Amino acid sequence: MKLNVKNIRYLTSDDWRVLTATEMGSRNHEVVPTPLISQIAAIRSGTGVHKCISNLAKIGLIAKVRNAKYDGYRLTYGGLDYLAMHTHQKSSTVYSVGNQIGVGKESDIIVCASETGRQLVLKIHRLGRISFRTVKANRDYLRNRQGASWMYMSRLAALKEFEFMKALRAEGFPVPEPIGQNRHTVIMSLIDAFPMRQISKVGDPAGLYAELLSLIVRLAQHGLIHGDFNEFNILVEEREEKHGRLSLIPTIIDFPQMVSIDHENAEYYFDRDVACIKRFFDRRFGFTSDEPGPFFKDATRKIVKRLDVEVQASGFSKKMAKELEVYMKEHGIDGDAGDFEPGAEEDDNEQDDGVEDDDDGGVALQGGPVTEDTSGPIATPADEPPLTP
Ligand code: ADP
Ligand code: MG
Repeated sequence: MKLNVKNIRYLTSDDWRVLTATEMGSRNHEVVPTPLISQIAAIRSGTGVHKCISNLAKIGLIAKVRNAKYDGYRLTYGGLDYLAMHTHQKSSTVYSVGNQIGVGKESDIIVCASETGRQLVLKIHRLGRISFRTVKANRDYLRNRQGASWMYMSRLAALKEFEFMKALRAEGFPVPEPIGQNRHTVIMSLIDAFPMRQISKVGDPAGLYAELLSLIVRLAQHGLIHGDFNEFNILVEEREEKHGRLSLIPTIIDFPQMVSIDHENAEYYFDRDVACIKRFFDRRFGFTSDEPGPFFKDATRKIVKRLDVEVQASGFSKKMAKELEVYMKEHGIDGDAGDFEPGAEEDDNEQDDGVEDDDDGGVALQGGPVTEDTSGPIATPADEPPLTP
């Protein structure tokens, strides 16, 4: 399910209309009947619609499904990718798509560029994907309680990530600059740094340790717990200061599992984030602090601002948060730190998020596993007229 934008520039405006119509139809049809696609697309010639449908099916953007009652089509992840990238391209957010730099359990991370050549990161949320990877989730999937919900849930995850990134950035937290969001995708600035996981030595572990723990506390004072605060989700840039001293600048990423300090398990998540950092610093840098804590109760004594409440008001509602949480729980999505039990023996198996970070020597960000280099513009179809359903 790699992003493959090879064909995007060859789609005609009628192809886009039919693709959009299939997406619209799938809001209330798991399998969109062909006549409904025609009706929504409102393309005059009937043979025209069929030609578009067969075009789109051939390149895998829609897939034919034989229902018990009727034949129709469903939008594929590829189709959703095209619609999102088309929108980013039309709004001049993204001009070209480059190499994939990460494959997470629930996302693909791809470098892309703006019209002015600025390097950006495209994060594509793929929440349904995990269903095919684990037996338990597969069973859930077969029970098929939620039809096309992978699409909706991936959108929710992208929206949540974008809204939290905006709120955190506005408060001066070290997070990427949020640039755009559409459907299941987020566009943000590219951080020129390695995940902490790939860093084998630091000059001053105590300093970085203190900074990271103070970030956890500061988040709590803003109403939030990251929920997956680990060495994969902290990018550390080594910046050389004037006197030749290296300073370490952390940037926090990956927000779909953030929770409010009002969450029923808030303290558990807070402790887990703290434990993640402690464990990593101990194992990797041989650094342990004598100081206990920080503790949830102390951290939340002085509230600076309630970003959790602010985000709820600005577009990612409480209801959406709950829906996403339930889905993630049902599908066993719990970030990279999933099996933490407070007070339990820590197991020694380091987790791997499937990216190229197995050797800890540091791999150049853009030299990772490379998909096709598609540095050309992503699409230049004529602008289509508005849809009239
Ligand atoms: P997932 O939800 O799959 O864990 P993440 O948002 O954590 O996705 O991203 C996965 C990996 O991609 C990160 O560990 C990091 O190496 C890279 N990455 C993600 N966002 C950025 C960014 N803005 N700049 C640079 N690298 C990034
Ligand atoms: Mg991550």
